[in-house]
Amino acid sequence: MPTPVVAIVGRANVGKSTLFNRIVGQRLSIVEDIPGVTRDRLYAKGEWNGVKFDLIDTGGIEMDEEDEMENLIRVQAQLAIDEADVIVFVVDGKHGLAVQDEYVANFLRKSKKPIVLAVNKLDHHNHHPQSYEFYQLGFGEPIPMSAEHGMGTGDVLDAIVEQLPQLAPEEVDEDAIRIAFIGRPNVGKSSLVNRLLGENRVMVSDVAGTTRDAIDTPIQHEDQKYVLVDTAGVRRRGKVYEHIEKYSVLRALRAMERADVCFVVIDAARGIAEQDKRVAGYALDAGCAIAFLVNKWDAVEKDDKTAHRFEEEIRSHFPFMRWAPVLFVSALTGQRVSRVLDLARSIAENHVFRVQTSALNRVLADAQISVAPPSSKGRKLKLYYGTQASVKPPTFVIFVNDQELSHFSYERYLENQLREAFDFQGTPIRIRVRTRS
Ligand code: GDP
Repeated sequence: MPTPVVAIVGRANVGKSTLFNRIVGQRLSIVEDIPGVTRDRLYAKGEWNGVKFDLIDTGGIEMDEEDEMENLIRVQAQLAIDEADVIVFVVDGKHGLAVQDEYVANFLRKSKKPIVLAVNKLDHHNHHPQSYEFYQLGFGEPIPMSAEHGMGTGDVLDAIVEQLPQLAPEEVDEDAIRIAFIGRPNVGKSSLVNRLLGENRVMVSDVAGTTRDAIDTPIQHEDQKYVLVDTAGVRRRGKVYEHIEKYSVLRALRAMERADVCFVVIDAARGIAEQDKRVAGYALDAGCAIAFLVNKWDAVEKDDKTAHRFEEEIRSHFPFMRWAPVLFVSALTGQRVSRVLDLARSIAENHVFRVQTSALNRVLADAQISVAPPSSKGRKLKLYYGTQASVKPPTFVIFVNDQELSHFSYERYLENQLREAFDFQGTPIRIRVRTRS
């Protein structure tokens, strides 16, 4: 089932992020944060009374300082309107109705999206009458609350859940490999997608994805079906907020959640940037199969060592992803673009690979002999046996005498042993160590 989206909007300092954190932090409502973005606090998964939703804090979207406040509000409101099924409009009840609230309201009114009007900073029941003046915004009954003290947030959540739409189940073709192209702006994601669409048979007209305007495009290449996830997100241009990094991250996160394979696109002409590392980190957390596409290879002056050097650079910047293949391409000339789908296929196969339990345990036994497991206070870690719990990505559970004795570095060693024994190129591996009871 696709998950509906809830966005929090409102002028600066009304307490949007406090409300977001309150909902996220309460744990009674939130299943899990999306790993990797917890520090951004822009996007989280929520649940209230058994109803799941994705929560966006548009207050996390920031712009250059010289930008006008109105512009910022406009961008945040537009984002909420485009992405959300229900919008939580937060106002400051202590301050009272502000001109900028009206400004936000004017935007939201045009959207026809359900609005929950939350009047924040009313820390005491006696203050609740201060919410009445917000009736004039025309969004129905204002809900008094205090994000700081956690009062009234349950009422807000009730109102959200009441308005959430029943989304039709997404039609997922289990045989198709789902691919997302991620990377910072202008690395050439859209150009690559367009190339692939030009060179391959597009199966049917675009299929609506879970996000309001996420469009997935199924294509066929040889005997394999693929779906390019969120082609609208990479191809469409011109929305006022598209250039904002956090927004593109949000967009990429939503695409990655629905993808088997993530291509991290890097601009060969501009080299590797901090933002590329963040993007790759998200893909790693999302558990996708991953490969690097070094695009704009036509624009680089080359000799016979350039590719090797670039790959070395990638390895040093992404040390935990040494298993991710690197392909040098040009969306402009089409160089090696015909290999992209085959690469997706090969790493997608590794992503669903299942190791036989007997073979797995042979590798673990040998590993234990070659390098002794760590010990602490005279007690030594003992590996009893392992089993593969799941795929996408391959996840192994290893039962031991005491999981507290295990070490990140030893688990990393075991991962490397597994990678030597089996073909896991292009896929992350997860190892969970459990005390056998
Ligand atoms: P996106 O923001 O990642 O989707 O990037 P775009 O696909 O819009 O490309 C950004 C810019 O890079 C555009 O001006 C493209 O024409 C250019 N570009 C994309 N791919 C290539 C390539 O392979 N070689 C060169 N030289 N330019 C490219």
